[in-house]
Amino acid sequence: MRDSLDKKINHAIWVAHSLFQRGKATGSVANLSFLHEDKIYITATGTCFGTLKPDEFAVLDMDGNQYHHVKPSKEWPLHLSVYKAKPDIGAVLHTHSTYSVLWSCLPGLNESDCIPDHTPYLKMKLGNVGLIPYEKPGSQELFHAFEKRVKDSDGWILSHHGPVVPGKDIMEAFYILEELEESARIAWELRKER
Ligand SMILES: [Zn+2]
Repeated sequence: MRDSLDKKINHAIWVAHSLFQRGKATGSVANLSFLHEDKIYITATGTCFGTLKPDEFAVLDMDGNQYHHVKPSKEWPLHLSVYKAKPDIGAVLHTHSTYSVLWSCLPGLNESDCIPDHTPYLKMKLGNVGLIPYEKPGSQELFHAFEKRVKDSDGWILSHHGPVVPGKDIMEAFYILEELEESARIAWELRKER
């Protein structure tokens, strides 16, 4: 049976609070979205994952048109690109989690598979993580760079900015983000052996 909208919102709020409480999403910079009945429910602009509430979601159609007065996160085009490129995806999660960002600042990374396989779990849960070249957050240049590469890998890190991960639902996206951040942490701790 398909999950109700209430259940999806409850899961999204649990994910947001959990990430915030453990320092994996800070301030008001993280955003998440999920699909329900061909609409995108995305955290509103300026919302904080620590205090996210059910009325803090904007609703967009698959062309990015807004359904009511709640304004979406300014990074909504990243979410839309994922849904358009990958029809089996039902949720997208974006944070500025520390170890993923630290790793993305190193020179010489493989842009089509940027996290080393020190453990097998990231490949098992997700696959390859592409590195998107740096562009100013919220800019058309960033959205364009992301759209160009979105089909080339299974998840993404925006260089000097943060991870964007997909899932069939928001809980799966959460598990994948956790695995990506742990894998980046292990890679960072072991970086002198590169
Ligand atoms: Zn961001």
